[in-house]
Amino acid sequence: MRTDMLIDGEWIAGSGDAFTSVNPATGEVLAELREANEADVDAAVQAAARAFASPEWSGLLPAARAKLLLRVADLLEEHADEIAALETRDQGQPLNVSAGFSVPNAVEHFRYYAGWVTKITGVTAPLSIPDVDYRSRREPLGVCGLITPWNFPLMILVWKLAPALATGNTVVIKPAEQTPLSTLRLAELIEEAGVPAGVVNVVTGGPEAGKALVRHPLVKKISFTGSTAVGREIGAECGRTLKKVSLELGGKAPSVIAADADIDAAVQGNLLGGLLNSGQVCAAYTRFYVDAKRHDEFAEKLAGAAGSLRLGNGLDPEVHLGPLVSAEQVAQAAHYVALGKEEGAELLTGGNRPDGDLANGFFYEPTVFAGVKQGMRIAREEIFGPVLSVMPYEEPEELVQLANDSEYGLAAAVWSRDIGTANRLAHQVKAGTVWINMMQGLDAGAAWGGMKSSGIGREMGWEAIEAYTEVKSIWTSLV
Ligand code: NAD
Repeated sequence: MRTDMLIDGEWIAGSGDAFTSVNPATGEVLAELREANEADVDAAVQAAARAFASPEWSGLLPAARAKLLLRVADLLEEHADEIAALETRDQGQPLNVSAGFSVPNAVEHFRYYAGWVTKITGVTAPLSIPDVDYRSRREPLGVCGLITPWNFPLMILVWKLAPALATGNTVVIKPAEQTPLSTLRLAELIEEAGVPAGVVNVVTGGPEAGKALVRHPLVKKISFTGSTAVGREIGAECGRTLKKVSLELGGKAPSVIAADADIDAAVQGNLLGGLLNSGQVCAAYTRFYVDAKRHDEFAEKLAGAAGSLRLGNGLDPEVHLGPLVSAEQVAQAAHYVALGKEEGAELLTGGNRPDGDLANGFFYEPTVFAGVKQGMRIAREEIFGPVLSVMPYEEPEELVQLANDSEYGLAAAVWSRDIGTANRLAHQVKAGTVWINMMQGLDAGAAWGGMKSSGIGREMGWEAIEAYTEVKSIWTSLV
C-alpha cells in the first residue's frame, strides 16, 4: 500500500522529516512516512479549494454524489478483512474490534450519509412582509480540515468524512501520526471509487502538520477528535480566524450501578464498556459508582472477569485485549496505577506490564481498583488505558452530584431495573450520551458528542449534516 501523501490526486513523498508507524503488539516498524511541512499542507488545501469550485464536484448532482459514497462503502466492505487486519497491526485493536466493529461502522456511515445526500432540505417560511417569497437552503462550507486521533483511526475519520462529502465539501485529512495507515488505504479506495482528484487529500505528520492546517486561511472548518488540551488550542485558533469548529474531546464516563441492578449483567457490560480497545475509548466506562451494599460483590466479580481476559497480538482471534498504542500510553497507565496505590485505593487485579512473549509490545494488564474515593486522581482524570475504579456510594441522592462532579461530559451509563430511577438519572447526568443497562453502542443515526470539556458540536445523525453546511436565506420579490 501507499504511504505517501495524497494531494490533488497525486501521491507525493513530501520533503519533511521521516517518521515511522509501529506495530504496538511487536514493536516492528510497519512503514516510514514523511511529516507534512507548511508547503505540503498549503498544496493540499489549495487542491481542495480548487476541487470545491470545480464543476466535477460542485456540479455533481446529488444522486451521483450519493452513488459515489455508496461505491466507497462497497469498496470498503469488499476490502474489510484486509483493512481490519491493517488497523489491528497499526493500532493494536484486536480483530474482534477492528473487523467486528470499526470497519463495519465505517461502511455503515458511508451508506447512511449516502442516504442523506438527496434529502438535505431547507425550509420555506411565511414572513410577515408583503409580496415576498422566502426559502432557505443548506450549502457546503468549502475546505474542511479533518484531524483524527489514534484510538479508532478509520472509524473516527469516517464519522467526519462521510457527512463532509455527503454535503458537498472537500477535505484535507491529517491522521494521527501513530496510526496513519488505514486512512491512507481508505484514500486509495476513494480514488478507485472515482471521487474527483483534490476532493479528498491526506497529509501525514504530527502536531505541526495539524497546526498548519488549522491556521490555513482557506480552511473553512476544522473537525477535530483528540485530547481536551489540544481541542482548547484548536478552538482558540479557530475563534481567531472565525472558522467553524467541531471538537470531540476527552471523557471520564461514570457508570452508576444502583442497588437493584442485575450485578452479573452490570459486570459483563462494564467489563466490555471499560476495557474495549484496552480502555483507549473516549467513552470508556471508568468510574463505577456502586451502591455500598453491593460494592464488594461488584468489584470482586469485575476484577475476576478482568483478570481472566486474554492479552496478546490482536491478529490472534482468541485475544480479548491488544496492546496500548504506544510506550507513552503504557507509561501513562503505569503512572496512574502508581498514583492510585499512593492515594490509598485497593488494587484488586492487574497493575503490571506482562512479561514473556508480550514484553516487546506495549501491553498493560487490565487493572481494577476498589474503594476509590471521589477526590482521587484515578477517579477524576482521563487515563485512556485499562484502569478501572470502583467507588461505593451510600446515598442514592448523592449520585447525580458524584457523576456530574467532573470536567468531562461525554458519556455515562446507568444500571437499574427500575425504569424510573434509570431514566431520572439519565436526564440529570450532564453527558452527551447516556446508555441504560447496556455497554456503549454507536450508530450513524444517533447524535454523538460531548458536553462541558468533552467538546463542542455533534457528529452522526442529521446533526452532522448541520455541522458541515451553512444556511442561506433567499428572498424573492413577488411584484
Ligand atoms: P491528541 O489531541 O494528542 O491528538 C489528536 C490529533 O491532533 C492527532 O492527529 C495529532 O497529531 C493532532 N494534533 C496534536 N496537537 C495538535 C495541534 N496543536 N494542532 C492541530 N493538531 C494537533 O489526542 P490523541 O492522544 O491522539 O487521542 C486521545 C484523545 O482523544 C483522548 O483524550 C480521547 O478521549 C480523545 N478522543 C475523543 C473522542 C470523542 O469522540 N470525543 C474519540 C476518540 C478520542
